[in-house]
Amino acid sequence: MKRIFSIASVLAVCALVALAVLAVLPGSKAKQSGLIGGQQDPTIVNTSHKPVNTDLGAVKKKDGAKQVYLTFDDGPTPGYTAEVLGDLKAAGAHATFFEVGKHMMGEQDLMKAILQNGNQIGIHTWSHADLATVTWGETYNQIQQTRIQLTNETGDVSYIVRYPYFIEGPYGASVTKALHLGVAWSDISPEDWSATTSNQQIIATVMKHVFPGATIGLHDGNGPLPGPPGNRETPAYLPGLLGALKAAGYQFGVLRNASPTQ
Ligand SMILES: [Zn+2]
Repeated sequence: MKRIFSIASVLAVCALVALAVLAVLPGSKAKQSGLIGGQQDPTIVNTSHKPVNTDLGAVKKKDGAKQVYLTFDDGPTPGYTAEVLGDLKAAGAHATFFEVGKHMMGEQDLMKAILQNGNQIGIHTWSHADLATVTWGETYNQIQQTRIQLTNETGDVSYIVRYPYFIEGPYGASVTKALHLGVAWSDISPEDWSATTSNQQIIATVMKHVFPGATIGLHDGNGPLPGPPGNRETPAYLPGLLGALKAAGYQFGVLRNASPTQ
């Protein structure tokens, strides 16, 4: 009888511990928008700024070089990503592409082309999911299936993730920790996806806010994503943006493709 009571006590303690763990699980965290240096900037509505994790993904040059980290989300897109790659190559620039798993299917050559010339590929989930709305298992599958697809198509292995819409959801942090992945946020997101943002505005917004080490959120995709169709005319503004950044003395780095635990 004494032994049974003891087992019951242990179970009760386990239940309490489980409740405590559940209590500290992260809630859904849509990131704050448009915060630059702690000030709300109405020109950058969709920027997520989380300095610790942004730095975590980037390799800062030790020689004092002014570097920016261009990132392109939502591709690969046939007939579009190749133009972006051509613009980068012409300017001697590199970038990190956060690609959608289902857009990778059948695009082996395009993805291998991205990896050439020093570019990097990161993960942007399988179907551009809103991670605020899915379970832990679905969050895991959205990320891990895309990693597997990337490896199957190219042999490359990615350790970096960008959440769609910069929404971590209730399980993003837990899943990326379990998979030993780094999360890439963005310092400047000039809304190049929006039909109401002109190419001149995109360049002006980046040049107004750029700083050494900044990660810049752009797009190389025009896939069937939720929401109104944007202009997504990256090849129309990219040469001008690259020229303006170079004229300001910036070089172009890629985010470090490695687990934060490495
Ligand atoms: Zn996206």
